[in-house]
Amino acid sequence: MQPLWRKIQQGNFTDWKRLTDFIQLDLPLPPSKLKFPLNVPVRLAEKIVKSTPNDPVLRQFLPSLEENKKSPLFISDPVGDTQSRKAPKLLHKYQGRALLVSTSACAMHCRYCFRQHFDYETEDKSFAEELEYIQQDTSLKEIILSGGDPLSLSHRQLKSLIDSLSQIPHLKRLRFHTRFPIGIPERIDDAFLELLNTCRLQTFFVIHSNHPNEWDEEISAALKRVQRLGIPVLCQTILLKNVNDNADTLHAFFEFLVDQGILPYYLHQLDRVEGAAHFEVTEEQGKSLMQELTRSLSGYAVPRYVQEIAGESSKTQISY
Ligand code: SF4
Repeated sequence: MQPLWRKIQQGNFTDWKRLTDFIQLDLPLPPSKLKFPLNVPVRLAEKIVKSTPNDPVLRQFLPSLEENKKSPLFISDPVGDTQSRKAPKLLHKYQGRALLVSTSACAMHCRYCFRQHFDYETEDKSFAEELEYIQQDTSLKEIILSGGDPLSLSHRQLKSLIDSLSQIPHLKRLRFHTRFPIGIPERIDDAFLELLNTCRLQTFFVIHSNHPNEWDEEISAALKRVQRLGIPVLCQTILLKNVNDNADTLHAFFEFLVDQGILPYYLHQLDRVEGAAHFEVTEEQGKSLMQELTRSLSGYAVPRYVQEIAGESSKTQISY
């Protein structure tokens, strides 16, 4: 039987007319064939203020003709994923940890996604080659489940993957990178919580969220159930033009997060991916926002302002 979250996901808005009717906007059709298709969960669409083209939630998910603008600085692989690919679904960039591109699927399609042009391996559903690499490299202590979104995997697939990772003796930690609960918090169901609860590895849960308007009580309650297992929940945020590029929004958001016991982890300077130039906020503006946030928030509520630079041995902290 299909779990509830999967049924909810099947109701996502993937059709332009259905979405624009729902949000009451008469917009011209986008280019007929979108390389990165429209995909918005109903829960997020319900938070878009009707008839408001500049709504900060809508801007993140609505395809725009601006995506067709070419800029030599905005490329298909801005963070050097290709050069760090050690197996079809494994990226090893940094010392001690590696990232599993566990699926190509997501609960939603964010128009600024840095992996929107990634050449996902979709034929082979197993992780045999990746697990072999991890098994062989005893310097690895931590595996990051990313994607796509790891919570797009079925319970059976996720359990099998986590069980296999747990059996590798040199691994100590497991990290989820997910945006799924922001669109479909029902994904945090009893079966998933049981999986987390019985995992040998110390687990960290890093969600991706960019604006307070994305949230509601059910999302907070779902993440609270994760926190009650003793699993730290952190949040990474991307600085996005006309979405969250003002001090009041970011202040309110980070304060909201810490009130839920969620630590603001990173504020990312946008990865310069092809098609997303219209989301870029200048570094100068980012620095000035960080200065304001540092003045107005408790230290633990201020995320690190970072940029990922291809080939570097860690994220680069931007000083301000
Ligand atoms: S949820 Fe994450 S991986 Fe999926 S489209 Fe959005 S940014 Fe990309």
